[in-house]
Amino acid sequence: MKPIQKTILWCCLLTLMLPAAQTRAEWFSEEAQLMGTRVSVELWGEDAPRSRQLIAEVLAEFQRLDLMMNPWNPASELARINREAGHSTVVTTPEILAVVERALYYSRLSEGAFDISFASVGQHYDYRQGRAPDDEVIARDRDNIDYRAIEIDPDAGSIRFAKAGLQVDLGGIAKGYAVDRGIDILRGAGIESAVISAGGDSRILGDLGDRPRTIGIRHPRRKNEYAVMIPLADTAISTSGDYERFFMQGEVRVHHILNPDTGRSAQGLQSASVLAPLAEDSDALSTTVFVLGVERGLQLVNSLPGVDAILIDGDGKLHYSKELLLSTRP
Ligand code: ADP
Ligand code: MG
Repeated sequence: MKPIQKTILWCCLLTLMLPAAQTRAEWFSEEAQLMGTRVSVELWGEDAPRSRQLIAEVLAEFQRLDLMMNPWNPASELARINREAGHSTVVTTPEILAVVERALYYSRLSEGAFDISFASVGQHYDYRQGRAPDDEVIARDRDNIDYRAIEIDPDAGSIRFAKAGLQVDLGGIAKGYAVDRGIDILRGAGIESAVISAGGDSRILGDLGDRPRTIGIRHPRRKNEYAVMIPLADTAISTSGDYERFFMQGEVRVHHILNPDTGRSAQGLQSASVLAPLAEDSDALSTTVFVLGVERGLQLVNSLPGVDAILIDGDGKLHYSKELLLSTRP
């Protein structure tokens, strides 16, 4: 072995040994059913009671946001907005306004593929009961899917719908937002390695100490199998799939991501995964790209710096964004 190789070897061994010798840190984790999905928090901590306390704080934050943004809970602030904003101006929380603003940003960017007012029609779907609205209901309410009719007054801290029948649902962005708030709590407390997941939305803080964490993208048609495994550190990743909540109507898969143009489930992709620094963005973008399809979806992602995507089309074929293709080349 050349001396230089020896030195490198020793450096590697030392860096592997040092953290173990200095601290007795370990992984702490917990899971809970929140925001209609499985939320998990995992962190690398040195102090057991404090680590558990931090996890509890993150889960409490999810609970707080769920109480604010769940449109199906009549007591939530979002439900109140849905009841009142079509008739009058509603002064609401800065947090809801900020999330709606971000949602509107993605609506403009995607020319309406992402639209929280999808719920004007979306409210008539019941995936558990296998019920979809008929043509008549869709024709009646489709016009109320219109993000341009959502008006925000930042100075007054208020929101108003210019269409009386318009309804909003933050299901395409709220979980990502909550994941980011959770990471803020952990980072603020000095945690350097953690993962928070809420269903298909995850954010990874740091890495596994000596290597990136491997994240799997679920196989859209084979339960408990992964289609892709990717090593990731310090990023958010969200996946939108047609296998999450769906039922079959003949040959058509009726699922929970709607094409705002038709009021029906977006067809074309089986799954869309988006990587971005923040989970709020990866969440909104995974839903957006799912609606846009392979060509327009990749075009959008390739135009956004720091954003990447892995798409699985209707035939199960994988498509990667520009940066990922470059980085996988030898
Ligand atoms: P999930 O993790 O809930 O599967 P997704 O990121 O795939 O999340 O988003 C799906 C959710 O987004 C739906 O359940 C619905 O609440 C919302 N949604 C569906 N279609 C749209 C759309 N066109 N624009 C914005 N939000 C949508
Ligand atoms: Mg999403």
